[in-house]
Amino acid sequence: TVGCVVMDKTGLLSAGTSTGGITAKRVGRVGDSPLIGCGAYADSEAAAVSCTGHGESISKVCLASLVTEKCRLGVHPNKAIRDSIKYMNKRVGGAGGVICIDNKGNSGIGFNTERMAWASKTKSESVCGLNPGERLVF
Ligand code: ASP
Repeated sequence: TVGCVVMDKTGLLSAGTSTGGITAKRVGRVGDSPLIGCGAYADSEAAAVSCTGHGESISKVCLASLVTEKCRLGVHPNKAIRDSIKYMNKRVGGAGGVICIDNKGNSGIGFNTERMAWASKTKSESVCGLNPGERLVF
């Protein structure tokens, strides 16, 4: 997956998610990435979210939408991601990773996959990592 979440200078939020799918996927499989609310979601009044991981699990809980709605209630993206991945894992199993930016410009990242490469750029700083240490363990 290559995913991105962006806030422009007027405050509009956008999300994009691209994928080659999973290894040995069945012909005709539709993963989570093209399903709005599953692999990606954006609402400028709440958050922009992009997901990677086990598409079937992500789709069953509408993971991007789940994270967005928590942010809408004022939950910080890091906590929204953590709680949503934890819920997915408990409810349907599966591993995933999420990046998010909320309408206040707070960004978040979290994953319970082995690792997830990520990068972030704001007006003042650029950071990136692979950070296996940030893996969410439940
Ligand atoms: N989420 C994708 C899928 O299940 C796989 C990926 O993370 O790229 O199709």
